[in-house]
Amino acid sequence: MDILTHTLSGVAIGTVAVAFSDKSLKESLLIMVLAAFAGALPDVDAISLWSHFDGTLGKLFHLSHSGRDIYSAKFWYSHHAFMHSILAAILFGGGTVLLKSSLESKFCKRSAGSFSDVLWRNRHLLMAMIAAYILHLAEDMITPAASWGGVNFFFPMKHYTGGTGDIWWWNNYDIFLIVVGVILFNIMVLVSQRFVRFSAHKFTLTIFAVGFALALFQIHSRDIDYAYSGQCNNYQELEAYSKAQQKEILGDKTFRFMVWFDGKLKVYF
Ligand SMILES: [Zn+2]
Repeated sequence: MDILTHTLSGVAIGTVAVAFSDKSLKESLLIMVLAAFAGALPDVDAISLWSHFDGTLGKLFHLSHSGRDIYSAKFWYSHHAFMHSILAAILFGGGTVLLKSSLESKFCKRSAGSFSDVLWRNRHLLMAMIAAYILHLAEDMITPAASWGGVNFFFPMKHYTGGTGDIWWWNNYDIFLIVVGVILFNIMVLVSQRFVRFSAHKFTLTIFAVGFALALFQIHSRDIDYAYSGQCNNYQELEAYSKAQQKEILGDKTFRFMVWFDGKLKVYF
């Protein structure tokens, strides 16, 4: 799936986590920003497609394959490999919490406490980051298998999960709009909570669940199977169809707006 929807899915998770915590505005914003970061982070393994990869990182690590080959291969540092695993989700979530805590104790002269104290104190941030990361992996599992056969969810096991091809790599404007809707509604709930006391977490969780169910419905309502493994013989055709399908789903006006928005972005969307 596209990087923007991945990142915003992280924000949506962040809004739920914030409602469960009783943190200050600053801490709440930090949870949302780091959840967004966790939602985007797995795709850092696409760096091998960077035009200067072979002359820089490839050279530094004495890699015998070109970045383009690495991207489609099944090395642990290839796309959809280690970075797309539950192990990476836990390591990066836990690592961020430990780093945050050590920075706080260094600069704010606040005692970090024991390891379990640190994890407990930052449990909302930790859960938000891990959940956002895993949601990214789930969003990728429903794209085509391509050369990987899904994502290496259970790394270091060799098995790849997903690759169902329920949706195309991008042109999933309907899913994007659902994610944006969840964020907007949840932010309204979070803002209201600052003026009226109520159980905001119940509302944010329900809104997230409704959004999730809507997205699932949309994913399974595609009237074409985008699945392929290895090379795709009709890539352009499937890509064009995925866009045409959005016109049917969204209607002329919204579709035109989304195409305009898509055109403003530098990334595949
Ligand atoms: Zn990904």
